Amino acid sequence: MQLTPHKLRCPYCDARIRLLIDETAGYQQYIEDCEVCCQPMVVCVEAGFEAGCRVSLTDENEALWTDY
Ligand SMILES: [Zn+2]
Repeated sequence: MQLTPHKLRCPYCDARIRLLIDETAGYQQYIEDCEVCCQPMVVCVEAGFEAGCRVSLTDENEALWTDY
């Protein structure tokens, strides 16, 4: 397990968030509360691409929950 810091923005309050992502774990989707506004953000990690790891933050209502 290797944690890599990613800088993102909260979809609710636009605060800058620093998340530690485990890039070796493949596709992940989980809820993390914003440390500023405490709203539940959906963290979506797509690892394994040539370009590296894609991390996106969406608000809970917009997230597309998909089974992989
Ligand atoms: Zn926030």
